[in-house]
Amino acid sequence: MSERIFIGVAWPYADGPLHLGHIAGAYLPSDIFARYHRIKGNEVLMVSGSDQHGTPITIRAEQEGKKPGEIAAQYHQQFLDSWQKLGISFDLFTSTGTANHTEVSQDIFLTLLDRGYIYRSTVSQPFCPRCQRFLPDRYIEGTCPYCHATGARGDQCDACGKPLNPVELIDPHCRLCGTAPQFKDSEHFFLKLSELQGKLLDWVRQQTHWRQNVLNFTMRYLEEGLKDRAITRDIGWGIPVPVEGFEDKRIYVWFEAVIGYLSAAKEWAKRSGDDEKWRTFWQKDGQAKSYYFIGKDNIPFHTIIWPAMLLGYNDDLNLPYDVPANEFLTIEGRKLSTSQNWAVWLPDYLSRYDPDPLRYLLSINMPETGDTDFSWREFFRRNNDELVATYGNLVHRVLTFVYRNFDGCVPTFDDIDARGNELINKSLAVFNFMDGFLSQCNFKSALKMAMTVAQEANRYLDEKSPWKIIKEDRQAAANSLYVALCVISGLRTMVYPFLPFSSQKLHKFLGFEGNVEDDGWQLHFPPPGQKLPSPEPLFSKLDEGLVEMEAGRLGLPSS
Ligand SMILES: [Zn+2]
Ligand SMILES: [Zn+2]
Repeated sequence: MSERIFIGVAWPYADGPLHLGHIAGAYLPSDIFARYHRIKGNEVLMVSGSDQHGTPITIRAEQEGKKPGEIAAQYHQQFLDSWQKLGISFDLFTSTGTANHTEVSQDIFLTLLDRGYIYRSTVSQPFCPRCQRFLPDRYIEGTCPYCHATGARGDQCDACGKPLNPVELIDPHCRLCGTAPQFKDSEHFFLKLSELQGKLLDWVRQQTHWRQNVLNFTMRYLEEGLKDRAITRDIGWGIPVPVEGFEDKRIYVWFEAVIGYLSAAKEWAKRSGDDEKWRTFWQKDGQAKSYYFIGKDNIPFHTIIWPAMLLGYNDDLNLPYDVPANEFLTIEGRKLSTSQNWAVWLPDYLSRYDPDPLRYLLSINMPETGDTDFSWREFFRRNNDELVATYGNLVHRVLTFVYRNFDGCVPTFDDIDARGNELINKSLAVFNFMDGFLSQCNFKSALKMAMTVAQEANRYLDEKSPWKIIKEDRQAAANSLYVALCVISGLRTMVYPFLPFSSQKLHKFLGFEGNVEDDGWQLHFPPPGQKLPSPEPLFSKLDEGLVEMEAGRLGLPSS
């Protein structure tokens, strides 16, 4: 029975390059999940896009003397390039800068207003007398009233993590010119979260299948009581507020970015030629399950605010089924910091290395239930010891030996002994175990499970030694090599969601046509006599020198 799976992935701010923290947090797990469901024959829609609005982008643009749209377009292009090189298989990666997104956002805004979930209220906002402008969020800085760190922003203190209001800042000043702000009245729209609290609590209480950290965090947040939140800002960059008298204001970025999940599905439908197709993934009768892949800092927006908006907007749209938020990735034992350049940047990685070794390391070491660390030493070790020596070597020694000794064809077997059957049965059992793990977004365990099959197959070959016995008993050698080829064929499929590039290579090396995905989630025995191409290594060994070289790049000022 085919399932329908909607996958929404966090929208990256188009104000800088992606780093490994983003990849381990949201993009790699969502891609593994999408590929797993596709190869099983399920219907998948995976969407995201670049977040073009918000003060991080306008501030960057002002610093670089560019227009915010130029900055956003530049990084959007870079994101698309990174997805293609890393194999992140979005069905649509769009942006919040489209006319479609504006239309869908304004519709949700106006509907919530109509239904009484949005209201107007006048608030006192910081205003810079010198720049003659209001100073939302990141445009105002000062000293944190809680931890006394300097450089706390109007919306948050990065040093202690506390959310702030501009009035709370000690010694506040305009980030652009340093002048102390005045406070002026300004009328804004507020989302009535307080009214949706009861409905949300009822719904969240039923989500017992969520990860413990996600559920606990959400319950704590709800039990503290939801406060209404301002959803417009005194700023010129963003989606216009569709109400007269609000021409100088914009819809706040956190309100409209989450709407991207719905607007992207609509855009995808339009592009497919069937404008209504989004409904099967969004309306309740489509019976789709919606998954949202995000980092843990994004939990409240996806388990509270977005569901609240959906509940208020329309009774017929799917709420999130699961929000498998990941914890953080540290780099060489230290907290990742983009401002200190303590990060491994994705475009930089992809300019020097293949995608699969990174996908492998970040999967087998995924921060699913706690923070994990990325180090170049481990990258080097896992590539050489696990991908090359365990999996790659298994594939390469079998394929080269078969190619040379059996006329470049899959050998014909006449008998599979108990040991061979045991190994094949183990592969079948692993398919089942992986199914359970993958469907519950337990990616680390699934990949570890697959790797035990490669280890087992290496032991099997060491016992059978077809390279030794071929002289005395050619048929016995053919039998054990056939078993090995079947298991390798299964591995190609099992690790496909994690290592799509090498799986596709292996698919061809085994003489199959087309794509791994078309072959389905099964242990497919290569037919005896199937022609094999001349084999090549699946992975490349890395030089140990990279450990020191790459560690040396960390923390240097970026060029
Ligand atoms: Zn603080
Ligand atoms: Zn100023």
